[in-house]
Amino acid sequence: MGTPQLTNCPKCGKLFLRIRNICDGCYQKQEEDFLKAAGYLREHSGITIQELSDQTGVSVTQIRQFIWAGRILVDQFPNLSYPCETCGNMIQKGRKCKDCLDTINKLASQISNREEKGEGDRSHERKSLAGGYISHYLKEKSET
Ligand SMILES: [Zn+2]
Ligand SMILES: [Zn+2]
Repeated sequence: MGTPQLTNCPKCGKLFLRIRNICDGCYQKQEEDFLKAAGYLREHSGITIQELSDQTGVSVTQIRQFIWAGRILVDQFPNLSYPCETCGNMIQKGRKCKDCLDTINKLASQISNREEKGEGDRSHERKSLAGGYISHYLKEKSET
């Protein structure tokens, strides 16, 4: 392995040596947030993610990341649902709600159907077109 590369922290934008995904400052903050959130949850297992965020000052986005990383096990907390990554509907599993997954699957199969018919080698173009459809659709959906 070579030496770690200098890169911008995705959280705070600071330049840092890429030993982990985020810089030391953000990592430490994240660990503090985790201890705070996990500690509070242990005593208040019936609260919602919004209440947890309000009480601990840890952002909902950050708590959601702990859940995705498997550090907070939603199964143990009946009211701890979190917003779908794309539309914001409350969910308890995965990153996206069922509606968003269905939409994406539907679009993906429409696209692959079209590709099977064969329209020359323009798959790259079609792929970016599909991405446009999906984000357009989801944007409309989340605004309602
Ligand atoms: Zn940082
Ligand atoms: Zn969704």
